[in-house]
Amino acid sequence: MMTQRTALISGASIAGLSTAYWLERTGWSVTVIERAERFREGARTSTCAAAPVKSSTSWG
Ligand SMILES: Cc1cc2nc3c(=O)[nH]c(=O)nc-3n(C[C@H](O)[C@H](O)[C@H](O)COP(=O)(O)OP(=O)(O)OC[C@H]3O[C@@H](n4cnc5c(N)ncnc54)[C@H](O)[C@@H]3O)c2cc1C
Repeated sequence: MMTQRTALISGASIAGLSTAYWLERTGWSVTVIERAERFREGARTSTCAAAPVKSSTSWG
């Protein structure tokens, strides 16, 4: 008989919820706790321009 794997995740933001999602998909039983009384409101998207790096030596 297989034992149900369980996880307790503190924090219902992007890291906590995405971890919970993937654990649940692989058979874990997950509980998420959140200290804030309610979810933060709003979101925005960011754009990011990335400069190509030729090699690790250019990082110093
Ligand atoms: C001012 C600001 C603006 C930003 N703007 C952008 C943006 O435009 N675009 C972008 O992509 N990113 C942005 N970021 C970055 C983005 O918010 C973070 O990278 C992202 O939220 C990190 O996610 P996380 O799940 O790791 O942590 P968090 O989002 O910090 O979530 C942690 C959660 O855990 C909860 N928690 C903490 N301790 C406990 C505990 N002991 N018990 C229970 N719950 C707990 C907190 O209440 C929170 O809900 C911004 C960040 C800041 C500060």
